[in-house]
Amino acid sequence: MRKNEVIELTIVDMGTNGEGIGRYDGMTFFVKDALIGDTILAKVMKLKKNYGYARLEEITDASPYRIAPRCALHRRCGGCQIQALDYPAELSFKEKKIRNHLIHLGGFDAELIDRILEPIVGMDEPFRYRNKAQFPIGKDKEGNIVAGFYASGTHCIIPVSDCLLGVPQNKEVLQAVLSYMNENGVEPYDETTGKGLVRHVLIRCGFSTKEIMVCLVINGKDLPEREALCRKLRCIDGMTSISLNCNQNNTNVILGAKTETIWGKSYITDYLCYDDTSVAYHISPQSFYQVNSGQAEKLYGLALEYAGLTGKETVWDLYCGIGTISLFLAGKAGKVYGVEIVPQAVEDAKNNARLNNITNVEFYTGKAEEVLPKFYSMKSGGDASLEGMLHPDVIVVDPPRKGCDEKCLETMLKMQPKRIVYVSCDSATLARDLKALCGGGYELKRARGVDQFGNTVHVEVACCLQKASKANREIRL
Ligand code: SAH
Repeated sequence: MRKNEVIELTIVDMGTNGEGIGRYDGMTFFVKDALIGDTILAKVMKLKKNYGYARLEEITDASPYRIAPRCALHRRCGGCQIQALDYPAELSFKEKKIRNHLIHLGGFDAELIDRILEPIVGMDEPFRYRNKAQFPIGKDKEGNIVAGFYASGTHCIIPVSDCLLGVPQNKEVLQAVLSYMNENGVEPYDETTGKGLVRHVLIRCGFSTKEIMVCLVINGKDLPEREALCRKLRCIDGMTSISLNCNQNNTNVILGAKTETIWGKSYITDYLCYDDTSVAYHISPQSFYQVNSGQAEKLYGLALEYAGLTGKETVWDLYCGIGTISLFLAGKAGKVYGVEIVPQAVEDAKNNARLNNITNVEFYTGKAEEVLPKFYSMKSGGDASLEGMLHPDVIVVDPPRKGCDEKCLETMLKMQPKRIVYVSCDSATLARDLKALCGGGYELKRARGVDQFGNTVHVEVACCLQKASKANREIRL
């Protein structure tokens, strides 16, 4: 077999990034945009010893799961990797991904996973669910200012005025920003030269309040004619907060350290509800907030259920962001301690506690892997509340994609909580960390996927671990 040869493949599986997998002549081939059940013609692009990569040329027999994608740009834009897959098949793909990671990376028995993995919680409608969008601003070949998304794996902007995962108001905001820039001669940032001003437009929408926040990320400290921008944006229904974020670094990180509110409030408000609990949140431009509010409610409900609280427990909520999970837990616990690395998010968390009249929470700024060991090294000296902190009933973690730091896991094991609730947005690092926790005397009791990111390959998972009984711990030793 040679490079550029066109081969016929039947796609029998899909990889974690949504790529189709087929076999030909004893070799495994990976093909972007090919779906399980497709028969295709594909051009061989790269060959290794027993696998290769091929490019989709023609679908000769379409998969029964293939549907007409709603967005014409879905193959060029990196956002919706599996928009052509129907939603039930997408959910099966995500369940299988979680299962495979837990078995192959976590080392759990398939029999255990099949027993405890509960059916994934799907969305009612896998479009228009994102409450946050970040659009890069640049120029097209003709020199027109455009907003859009980076084409998959590149920094070329594909103009997109209305992404179907986001709210319709995004389009109005982008139109207002682009017309302001054109009318006032404001240039977009060019990352090759480091010149130009406007880098990104960050838009957030509170789904329950319909409040809108716009934050322009600029390569400078000020914006000319900022009043002109505010006048245009204020005409949009729900506009609540307009701010500038200064980022003068040559970096891929979108936001810089400083944000200045130039009109309205410095935050928007949103409410999340589950059962009898409704919590209000103030959200600043720099704070993390789950992008899918509807599914976040289900995810937090699950975390609450897994935590098994009766009203008396001491709980740590590590990687707590603006206190979203902490405040949900507080109503059912004795005391909750949150830890978060972003100072602005901790400020939001403290304000959110006040806003909801919740007094049994405390928040600490810092890295979970530093704050937790620092407390653990203290001597309680008979102080009951410190004793509770050192030996909590429950620890909840919700880390970013890279998972928990080893030092954090180690300290959690030393603290010996009765239960650990692990909320994860990356099932591979989740599996790695669960392996360490189960190796340290915990048992995986429950796990469930919650789809927060319809049309993409990403999936959120909640897990419940319990301290193994003495007998089980001894078997392990
Ligand atoms: N539980 C929150 C936030 C989850 S996202 C929610 O559901 O909204 C993960 C959070 O971890 C982010 O807020 C991020 O700023 C924070 N973070 C990242 N690394 C961290 C670390 N080493 N220690 C503590 N927090 C960290």
